[in-house]
Amino acid sequence: MITFEGAAKHYPDGTVAVADLDLTVETGRTTVFVGPSGSGKTTSLRMINRMVEPTRGTVRVDGVDIRDRDPALLRRGIGYVIQQAGLFPHRTVLDNIATVPLLLGVRKRTARARAAELMELVGLEPSMGRRWPHQLSGGQQQRVGVARALAADPPILLMDEPFSAVDPVVRTGLQDELLRLQRELRKTIVFVTHDIDEAVRLGDRIAVFRPGGELAQYDTPERLLTE
Ligand code: ADP
Ligand code: ADP
Repeated sequence: MITFEGAAKHYPDGTVAVADLDLTVETGRTTVFVGPSGSGKTTSLRMINRMVEPTRGTVRVDGVDIRDRDPALLRRGIGYVIQQAGLFPHRTVLDNIATVPLLLGVRKRTARARAAELMELVGLEPSMGRRWPHQLSGGQQQRVGVARALAADPPILLMDEPFSAVDPVVRTGLQDELLRLQRELRKTIVFVTHDIDEAVRLGDRIAVFRPGGELAQYDTPERLLTE
């Protein structure tokens, strides 16, 4: 469970990115942060892995104030996927996915075997493992990004507009894959998008942000649509 308790982020230039966020993100569900550009979704997401420190309030993971956690240890339990997959250009696809386990001291053979399993999990052909990131389509790169984020088997997965840069047909395919993955893995996923259709499709819970960094609504997609 991730809880925001009066969490706020005010930038020195006076911008209120997040006003006063009280929200509980439930374990094992997909919670989508949706809202227009600039409404504080990314800032709120980044408070969870301490890429952003709130200027007020507290964020807890499983009841523990994340300021009391070692940032490196905290992040080991939190996968992070962004719009441009951010793959290492000089590592093969397989080694991109194996990077984190290797850093954690897992033996090379074991890390690569695990990476191969993850490739299958996200729907990438084994032969892709030998390719370089630039040889993949945008959609395939996003799959690699998801596999890499899952490599340390984190209980929490943060996804910031991961599918926004790919064309609509590929995006639908990636959404299907994520739904399938989530049925298998039951991670605590926090997914940021400005696309309400995507939010309704993927979310078990939807947090609607509005300009000024305020939470306008929090509900299930079904209830959100019938209001
Ligand atoms: P969203 O993800 O909903 O598009 P963000 O969380 O990225 O919104 O941004 C919320 C607000 O905070 C925006 O007005 C944005 O311009 C502002 N902001 C984000 N980062 C900074 C920063 N480093 N300095 C000043 N303002 C920022
Ligand atoms: P999409 O529009 O679905 O993102 P692309 O048009 O970028 O796909 O790529 C289509 C196919 O061509 C993909 O299977 C991708 O792996 C392959 N491909 C793209 N760029 C290269 C490259 N530089 N070398 C080899 N294969 C490539």
